[in-house]
Amino acid sequence: MATKAFKAESKKLLDMMIHSIYSQKEIFLREIISNASDAIDKIYYKALTDDSLNFEKDSYYIHITPDKDNRTLTVSDTGIGMTEEELENNLGTIAQSGSLTFKNDNEAKDGHDIIGQFGVGFYSSFMVADVVTVITKALGSDQAYKWESKGADGYSIEPCEKDTVGTDIILKLKENTEDENYDEFLEEYRLRSIIKKYSDFIRYPIKMEVTESRPKKDNDKEFEEVKEEQTINSMVPIWRKNKNELKDEDYENFYNEKHYGYDKPLKYINIQADGVVRYHAILYIPENIPFDYYSKEYEKGLELYSNGVLIMEKCADLLPDYFSFVKGLVDSEDLSLNISREILQQDKQLQLIAKNIKHKIQKELEKLLKEDREKYETFYKSFGRQLKYGVYMDYGSNKEDLQDLLMFYSSKEKKMVTLNEYVSRMPEEQKYIYYAVGESNEKIARLPQTELVADKGYEILYFTDDVDEFSIKMLISYKEKSFKSVSSSDLGIEDDKDKKQDEAEEKEDRALFDKMKDVLSDQVKGVRASKRLKTHPVCFATEGEVSIEMEKVLNAMPN
Ligand code: ADP
Ligand code: MG
Repeated sequence: MATKAFKAESKKLLDMMIHSIYSQKEIFLREIISNASDAIDKIYYKALTDDSLNFEKDSYYIHITPDKDNRTLTVSDTGIGMTEEELENNLGTIAQSGSLTFKNDNEAKDGHDIIGQFGVGFYSSFMVADVVTVITKALGSDQAYKWESKGADGYSIEPCEKDTVGTDIILKLKENTEDENYDEFLEEYRLRSIIKKYSDFIRYPIKMEVTESRPKKDNDKEFEEVKEEQTINSMVPIWRKNKNELKDEDYENFYNEKHYGYDKPLKYINIQADGVVRYHAILYIPENIPFDYYSKEYEKGLELYSNGVLIMEKCADLLPDYFSFVKGLVDSEDLSLNISREILQQDKQLQLIAKNIKHKIQKELEKLLKEDREKYETFYKSFGRQLKYGVYMDYGSNKEDLQDLLMFYSSKEKKMVTLNEYVSRMPEEQKYIYYAVGESNEKIARLPQTELVADKGYEILYFTDDVDEFSIKMLISYKEKSFKSVSSSDLGIEDDKDKKQDEAEEKEDRALFDKMKDVLSDQVKGVRASKRLKTHPVCFATEGEVSIEMEKVLNAMPN
């Protein structure tokens, strides 16, 4: 049986494309600029192998011209242009990507910087425009052509005049309606911010005439408005620059420019991965806790770029929760995107990158702990809690990954210590890692329960954070030493002789203890004699897994 070709209702298809692919209208500018950049790239790649072509960097740029009187926005490029046939094929056929063809034809050479691949981005211009006009002259051609379309009804192509090689895309913006405003795409500041957001790292200059208010030359008290052509984008992203040429200052400026924070970053990480998965990442650990960090509004995530074009502002999948304080971005040319160039959720590459990044951050923190203790402690003051939550929410390999990054205040050292430091100092006969829970270090130090352990000369870790004891319960042990609360009934210290004596004394005082229990009724489970007290007459002890302090936290939690 002969296979028949599908018929598509192209009008409907185009309508669907225009209205249901993109979540935001402003994306059209990203798409049109990406096409312009691709068009210039094509000349650049051609020039690599064609000696008759000379690629003078200065002659290649993108120009944006808003015209309020005519309600048009024009994006011009000095790229490769299109022949009549290319107009027909690339702009007359939905999902036909001349750029993908170009990339495939040039696979042996470079070409991997080309952005286009789906052949749909161009039509996003109909989200904001009633009429789209393309005036273009192809490299090596004498005739220019004009393509024009009002959207779903079709398009026309006719010869026209154009002096230079390249393409002008002219968008006749839609009239404002009650719900939608299109005027914004004619405003300098709005255009500038869209360009900065999505296209900042396009490799060619994106120029626009901007009006600036400046102090007058002869009288700097008065200001005058000056119109001036400016390049809006930064072009070379910091992560594409040579690591050796970058100074601390460059990273700090980038951090501020990107509004990752208003503080200085405590640490930056520059990753250039060239293995199974290729990506660049610039990551920052902020010095201070972001103001909204512990609020519901805080969203973790890294910016995600594909070939220098912003795909996603906050890609949450790139960071585990316990590193949610990390800021920065990832750029990769290996991502599989869906046609709106949003990332596919279950993308393998993305998962690999996330794993890789997690590992890198962990290693950097370990290094910081080793090499710059003071800085690490500053970090830990801000975000240690998050790491402890990570251990508590034990998931995958969290425990193993994070246990060496934990720190607690030590009774002996009178400062923060790691578990490794604690264990390496333990006398041979000490069985457990001891900890005491309380509101503050001062209050814990006065706890009667700590006396016996301290008397033995053993170190005690002070837990002052809600999550401390919970996370340690998840950890169970560190280097085969289990954790023991100084409040637990069996401290593993009293020897047998003591125990027998305890029992004898206990018998003697039974009547008194029973009376005490009666008076306290439900408030205690029992009253017993204890050997652990030195200077204090009485203390609380717990038997079960849940300590008094944990109970307090659990009771305070909203149901
Ligand atoms: P994609 O960029 O994914 O290929 P588009 O719908 O954005 O899809 O563009 C379709 C095709 O139209 C491009 O592949 C390219 O061949 C052609 N094209 C679009 N804009 C331009 C331009 N400014 N200059 C030259 N060719 C262009
Ligand atoms: Mg495109």
